[in-house]
Amino acid sequence: MTSFLIRNAAAILTGLPGDAARAAGPDLRVRDGKIAALGRLAPEPGEATVDATDCVIYPAWVNTHHHLFQSLVKGDPAGINLTLTPWLGATPYKYRGAFDADSFRLAVRIGLVELALSGCGTVADHNYLYYPGMAFDSSEIVFDEAEKLGLRMVLCRGGQTRTRQLEADLPQALRPESLDAFLSDLDRLATRFHDPAPDAMRRVVAAPTTPPYSMSPSELREVAQFARSRGLRLHSHLSETVGYQDSVHSMHKRTPVHFCAEHDWTGPDVWFAHLVHLDADEIALLGQTRTGIAHCPQSNGRLGSGIAPVRALEDAGSPVSIAVDGAASNEAADMISEVHAAWLMARAKAGDASRARCHGGRGEAGADAATVEDVVRWGTAGGARVLGLDAVGALAPGRAADIALYSLTEDPRYFGMLDAGIAPVACGGAARLAGLWVAGRQVVRDGRVAGVDLRALGRSAREAVAALERRAVAA
Ligand SMILES: [Zn+2]
Repeated sequence: MTSFLIRNAAAILTGLPGDAARAAGPDLRVRDGKIAALGRLAPEPGEATVDATDCVIYPAWVNTHHHLFQSLVKGDPAGINLTLTPWLGATPYKYRGAFDADSFRLAVRIGLVELALSGCGTVADHNYLYYPGMAFDSSEIVFDEAEKLGLRMVLCRGGQTRTRQLEADLPQALRPESLDAFLSDLDRLATRFHDPAPDAMRRVVAAPTTPPYSMSPSELREVAQFARSRGLRLHSHLSETVGYQDSVHSMHKRTPVHFCAEHDWTGPDVWFAHLVHLDADEIALLGQTRTGIAHCPQSNGRLGSGIAPVRALEDAGSPVSIAVDGAASNEAADMISEVHAAWLMARAKAGDASRARCHGGRGEAGADAATVEDVVRWGTAGGARVLGLDAVGALAPGRAADIALYSLTEDPRYFGMLDAGIAPVACGGAARLAGLWVAGRQVVRDGRVAGVDLRALGRSAREAVAALERRAVAA
């Protein structure tokens, strides 16, 4: 029986709602990969201890939407000032076909290491690098790299059977798959990797890239039915921009959320990235069906898409989670940057909607739109809920020991805080991660991931970027 005690933390935020959001005592015991107890605890004979003096403990973050391959195409000058639709063509689609197994693996590793160093223990990767005749198995690489680091991985198997251009006019890497190919690969992945356990290290999700465009309506229903018959969840992008609303309205004569609802793509086993532009009926429908959101405030800000109405969604009944999205539209793809942005943007959105009394409004408002405790809950337990990992995401007895330990001792940004517990989210910046454990196994120690040489990783990244640029130009 392996057991250790993390002692004397300045604060422990649990990821739970209400009065349970903060643990009463400064200590936390882990036994056999699970949280055994919280409170004021004395070490047992022979028990290992971790000194958490001047440290804050959170549940490890759960990132519910990523595109790890984009970790090698950040800050592309051709796309840095573009909105979503032109940016897709300028950056991710341009580089799709340039990836080989080695560069894809390197990108995945960089993205996962960046997340781990911010205190993230679970990653849902929406991988859409699949096309006919592809020379490597991107799914296997994603799982392999997560396992090497010791992170939980939820592979959202993207893909498309439709394209708005003639297939023959497209480069190979942009050609669609057949529905049979999509479903048979999903079946293969589910058989090989999917674990339905509430504390699974590996999950598979059905995730066509975006419902109104990626497949025909009847195919969407078929995918939903197939996924549910195998116990797989559903995930996709939805309603990121006003251009998206316009185009879905002209194609399908209804809102994106109503289109999804009519094709069996709502429910507690479905979550969508973005959901920035929603009308009141859509918010009500998402709430009634308990359909979740992966809120990506930094990517939505970077692309000028807007700010998702997360508070309204949660009030309506939708589970809220937080995600970094791909690094090609978010050059700060770590969870501390993301939750810091989520905290600020929820307040900015509420403040932006407030109106002066002299103009018929109710005056100053917005600062209670999201507390730090809300943001921690969304980024941890909320993420685990949308992924269906019910034993993950909160610090409570019996839950998985996925723990982030932040040191407040060596960065002036934390000095002078009256409430240490909010510091990792409220102060932003780079995390000072003293420890990250996933299922009780240590992934990060004193700001380092075992076996990862960051200088060597950086050199490999520079070489890979140069090769990708050469190949993308040639494509
Ligand atoms: Zn995305």
